[in-house]
Amino acid sequence: MTPRELTIKYGITPNKALGQNFLADENAVRRIVSAAAEPGLPVLEIGPGLGALTAPLVETGLPIAAVELDSAMCAVLKAELGDGLYIVNEDFLKCDLNAVHAVLGGGEVSIVGNLPYYITGAIVQRLVLSGLPIRSMTLMMQKEASERFTAKPCDKNYVPLTVLAQRLYTVRPMMDLSPASYWPQPDVASTVLLFERNGNSLPAMLPRIVKAAFAMRRKTLQNNLSALGLTKAQASELIVFCGLDPKARAETLSCSEFVSLAEAFESMR
Ligand code: SAM
Repeated sequence: MTPRELTIKYGITPNKALGQNFLADENAVRRIVSAAAEPGLPVLEIGPGLGALTAPLVETGLPIAAVELDSAMCAVLKAELGDGLYIVNEDFLKCDLNAVHAVLGGGEVSIVGNLPYYITGAIVQRLVLSGLPIRSMTLMMQKEASERFTAKPCDKNYVPLTVLAQRLYTVRPMMDLSPASYWPQPDVASTVLLFERNGNSLPAMLPRIVKAAFAMRRKTLQNNLSALGLTKAQASELIVFCGLDPKARAETLSCSEFVSLAEAFESMR
């Protein structure tokens, strides 16, 4: 059944405020599901909606959990997909991720979602900082938002979350989709990104370092890092110790240079 037919069957009106633009493109569904579903790997879906991705995921026979805020959507999923799916009717940003992870067996997982676009950054940040053993994430988002995750140093979209995401994942665009691939149609173009775990871990101080370094984009690294409770001289010493220029700006630093700063900062404490 198409998303439109499902809304008629269940008497539902899509809720724009929750980003309810349902995927109605069979080719895109096939490609996303085949990227997300790996043999033996449980899947966690964010924002399953009416089940465009969930139904073919359930058909794979893999353990699937899905976190959906809208109880009307959860009722449709329950009626259409029955027991093949563990549904969590909660806000993804507030749900107990460890509990959901435990339901999926507590091992490596794959994440998939045609995300609610209004909270894309917050969702990816939660996943990146979660510490969960995520092998890959196949995430659909607004095209402009996707550019934050693939940005390189000096790009205007290079932000703290770029550094954190790229530390843990190799990120690449999988496909672009026009509004015609959805019902109802959104006003914006979309991109599916594939985040593949690269084997690195997240240094404990990295989130604090990138947040401080980017706090004032026009200020130098030395000025911004002083906010970490360092004197200017200590900030300068830390930066020089890492082979960097205290007058550099955060947006010029590579991910590995931020990691050096985070590790050196940690060893200073
Ligand atoms: N996966 C479906 C599809 O591709 O057709 C629906 C995608 S729709 C773009 C986003 C879904 O996320 C909606 O079903 C919406 O209700 C849900 N959603 C919105 N905010 C949410 C939140 N904070 N936590 C969990 N789900 C949310």
